[in-house]
Amino acid sequence: MNVFDVGIIGGGVIGQGIAYELSKAGLKTAVFESGEIGGKATSAAAGMLGAHSENEKRDIFFELCLESRNLYPSLAKELLEQSGVDIELVQEGMYRLAFTEEEGRFLQSLADEDELEWHSRENVLANEPHVSEDIAGALWLKHDGQVKGSSVCHAYAKGARKYGASIFEQCPVFDVIKEGKAYKLVTSQGVFICGKVVVSSGVWSGFFFEKLGLRNPMKPVKGECLAIKPKKLVINKTVFYEHCYIVPKKDGTVIIGATSYENDWDTHPTVKGVSELMIKVQKIMPEIGSEPVVSAWSSLRPQTADGWPYFAEHPEHEGIFFATGHYRNGILLAPITSLIVKDMILKTNQYERYVHSFSLNRLLSDAK
Ligand code: FAD
Repeated sequence: MNVFDVGIIGGGVIGQGIAYELSKAGLKTAVFESGEIGGKATSAAAGMLGAHSENEKRDIFFELCLESRNLYPSLAKELLEQSGVDIELVQEGMYRLAFTEEEGRFLQSLADEDELEWHSRENVLANEPHVSEDIAGALWLKHDGQVKGSSVCHAYAKGARKYGASIFEQCPVFDVIKEGKAYKLVTSQGVFICGKVVVSSGVWSGFFFEKLGLRNPMKPVKGECLAIKPKKLVINKTVFYEHCYIVPKKDGTVIIGATSYENDWDTHPTVKGVSELMIKVQKIMPEIGSEPVVSAWSSLRPQTADGWPYFAEHPEHEGIFFATGHYRNGILLAPITSLIVKDMILKTNQYERYVHSFSLNRLLSDAK
């Protein structure tokens, strides 16, 4: 029988995380994914858990990022137990480089005792000897780690299945229609009745905002990355400067990312984008230029008008929830998003302040 307590539209890291938490809580849950699990933005991500690297302001978005990042160590253990998948959590911190004295003074002004520590040029080069000798120093973001985004998504999916969730791949949802107190999801594999519906379709969530009578706030921000498999260089920590980062993964590959092009729906990496990265990365680590490139890829970050995600129930259609718009931080924010959506659906009121801050009021009151 095609009847579920909750139907989730989109099987990226956000949809699978929500499916995991809801099925673990005992709800009969289904995920509908138009392609393959985690096949879009989720598998393109470098996997940085950048609570600090992504935020200089100390606002509620920073608190959300920090709380989600801090969930990762215990989640990594739980997902390994439940799914057998290692999400490849690395907790070496990140270096945010300064190349000028002025940049150095700015980064030193951010240093605090707990999470952010200024390292002199000599100290950085002792830890990461291949970083450019032209640096002035670096801020060490001690607890900003990294994971493998696609593995987080697959671990959540396997765990959700273990708790009884159904996951339909190659199953696009075409329509959401009210059916009494529930909703009919019209898909390529038939019609499903769901008591509640969660829209977590990444940048394609815009289609459902419009279908459900709301303005479409979603914009694609194309990002390209490349990967190298160093033969000589040993890189221990994630290192970044401006928006170019070097992320050494557990399997020995190193991800270099990422470009950023707004309103570009094309998903092929371009010569322009990849060469932009190649130039930037050699400023950070000149010797990286002779290492072999193994792949390049690109995908679409789901951005909203103000860059913050939505965790919200539809203002008129009770039981329809949006969990989307995670832009540059969907891997970082998947754990907290999953708990917030569970909280909204079960009405346990544990995350009211986030539900309040990331509501659809921003969309409804924004005349743009
Ligand atoms: P997606 O992963 O895009 O998943 C949405 C899914 O919905 C897709 O699989 C799609 O097929 C499905 N779908 C769409 N329409 C339908 C429909 N009608 N019916 C059924 N299914 C549908 N984040 C970080 O935290 N750290 C990083 O280091 C990082 N690096 C990044 C680097 C790049 C180059 C890019 C592009 C992104 C990066 N991100 C990073 C951002 C992160 O990848 C995204 O925020 C996150 O993956 C969003 O997850 P999602 O599940 O919302 O979207």
